Amino acid sequence: MQPLEAVKRAREILQGITPLKRDCGRYCGAACCEADEDGQGGMLLFPGEAEMYAGLPEGFHLTPDDAVFPGAWLLQCEGYCPRDMRPLSCMLFPLLPTKEAPVMDRRGWAVCPLMQSGVGGLQKEFAEAVKAAGDILYACPETAAFLDAIHAYNKSLQSF
Ligand code: SF4
Ligand code: SF4
Repeated sequence: MQPLEAVKRAREILQGITPLKRDCGRYCGAACCEADEDGQGGMLLFPGEAEMYAGLPEGFHLTPDDAVFPGAWLLQCEGYCPRDMRPLSCMLFPLLPTKEAPVMDRRGWAVCPLMQSGVGGLQKEFAEAVKAAGDILYACPETAAFLDAIHAYNKSLQSF
């Protein structure tokens, strides 16, 4: 499977499914969409996903970012985007697929109030959708390598 197809299929699975039944962004002010200390928000795109942002809507910027995965692109935003424009990393957050059950994404400790309650505190349907999306992403060598790189990066982060 090509990476873009894997990403599209994973995004389809996650469309309309959120970590909680209610909009979790209303409780934290959508903290994961807020700009960082450099004044930018955004997420790394999965391999192939940048093609979906070829005609960039206003407010989005694509920047090459090799820090975690060679040849990756960072999609920078202004803190709001329509649901169908959300990159896959944002749809998965605060979970991260593994080859087995999804785990909490350690990058979330800096921003996400849902980290404390762990996977069990999230909507079961969301965890199941992340698992199904992960099965597709691990079936494609490029997207599997991207996930491996994110897990390796997360291991380097101090947990709280
Ligand atoms: S930081 Fe966590 S609780 Fe807040 S919007 Fe993002 S995923 Fe939801
Ligand atoms: S791309 Fe959209 S969902 Fe992701 S951080 Fe930016 S505004 Fe939030």
